[in-house]
Amino acid sequence: MKISQSTLDRIKAAPVSKVIEACGGKLKRVGHEFITICPWHDDTNPSLTVNDQKGFCFCHCCREGGDSVKYIQKRNGLAFRDAVEKAAGILSISVDYDNEDPEEAARRKAEYAAALSENQSKQELFRKNLNHQRARRIRGILKDRGITPAASKEFGLGFSDTGHFSGRITIPIHDHRGQLVGWTGRATKNKEEQPAKYKNSAEGLLFHKKTLVFNEPRAVEAAREAGTLIFVEGHLDVVSMWQAGIKNVVAMQGTGAPDPFVLQRLSRNIKNFILCYDGDAGGEKAVEQFISVGGPMAMEGKININVANLPEDQDPDEVIRSGRDLYGYIASAPSWLDWIIDSWVFHLDHSDGAMITEVESRLKKLINGLQSKALRTHYIDKVSRALSENSKEAEKLAKDWEQDRIEVSGLTWKPREPGQIRLAVEKRMIRIFVHRPEKRDLLRPWMDRVENPALRWLCERLRELEDHSTVDLTPHSLMAVVAVAEPHYIQQVRALIRPNVIIDDSQGVIDHISDIMCLQTATELDEFDPHQPF
Ligand SMILES: [Zn+2]
Repeated sequence: MKISQSTLDRIKAAPVSKVIEACGGKLKRVGHEFITICPWHDDTNPSLTVNDQKGFCFCHCCREGGDSVKYIQKRNGLAFRDAVEKAAGILSISVDYDNEDPEEAARRKAEYAAALSENQSKQELFRKNLNHQRARRIRGILKDRGITPAASKEFGLGFSDTGHFSGRITIPIHDHRGQLVGWTGRATKNKEEQPAKYKNSAEGLLFHKKTLVFNEPRAVEAAREAGTLIFVEGHLDVVSMWQAGIKNVVAMQGTGAPDPFVLQRLSRNIKNFILCYDGDAGGEKAVEQFISVGGPMAMEGKININVANLPEDQDPDEVIRSGRDLYGYIASAPSWLDWIIDSWVFHLDHSDGAMITEVESRLKKLINGLQSKALRTHYIDKVSRALSENSKEAEKLAKDWEQDRIEVSGLTWKPREPGQIRLAVEKRMIRIFVHRPEKRDLLRPWMDRVENPALRWLCERLRELEDHSTVDLTPHSLMAVVAVAEPHYIQQVRALIRPNVIIDDSQGVIDHISDIMCLQTATELDEFDPHQPF
């Protein structure tokens, strides 16, 4: 179901400042605008200008910005649809959907609201149960776990003596928007009486185990400040760590490999994930499952994953309670790739040739998939040394590896074609030329080296406007010239000259343009690291 245009229009017309304030942003009035902290970059000095008349915000540092929906998407890490719904809630605007029978929509909405409200009543009951005299044994269990009444209240822990969660501590589960969608019930009796240690709410209208991450709304807020998000195995570990002042902690609701969708959602807010799983075989398996999904994202540079090595057979709660420095384990967590290499090499029998070959080929596949050339070199070196008996052998292994790198199958990483790099750089250069007059002298020497026919044609128009026209060269004047001269080119060049595009003209970008435009041949380009940002 699509959100209707009229809903979007009403949101656009409402003050952005109101939305920013409701999201916790502090506004300072400057004339008819406001300034606030920018959510798009690591901002300490407010750089985001908010203009309610124009209905958008814009950052003068990182040149990002947008309307209230974009702001919420970035600040709260929400998908477009969720952000629209949140903005509408703040602004008291009702959200309409296209192509939906209004009756059906109302029925669906009512059903959803009723389920949420039913959960709320159940939650109150569970909380009451825990404080009841009959629940003294349960309170004792929590106390033995070191969980304080304050933490129990914060997380809404409860108890149920009947029904689905009979004889279990209830831990409420909220979705990423903070809505109470169900519970996890933790056993309070021995294995014979309660074989499953954890039991979840049944899958249904609200509860979708695979998409849920315990403590996500609270932790994401803290993670944004801390810069990292910590994953632990148990829900009560999350609570213990919260008590110990470590608040950027979540636990996966589902067991097994995480849903890629969930990691993508989290990565909108936070790029650095630290796995702090139990120091036992189960924890090791959980790390491997996480990496099976998160690893490809990490290789593309979308996230970083580090793995804390907890003392053998301890979980985070036990580490805290034994008085050890959990922060230390978290801070010194090696990257996931180091973790894998170390654990494979640790188990390696140097006299077993077949095993060495097997480990070598598995590690090669992983390392060849890395986007960053510097990282690849680092890991090729590391693995070569780990797999070899002496430095000479290691050198040879690394050299051979570099040579047959491209032949290895199963790569997730593919080098860009030199032609594509050239085209991307030409486009980027022209965009800066059009929109940043102060950079034109700097770029002019490379403008007549442009190779793409449509772009070369555009460069000629640029030169004519600069040299022979009484009109100044601006995005608007150029747009007009292109539209009348060669209408069939407009599709190809519109994105470069359209007014109001966001331009990155930082020194790094200019340097990259200079590097690429000065190279003459495809082979020279071939040797260039193709993973510069475009
Ligand atoms: Zn910014």
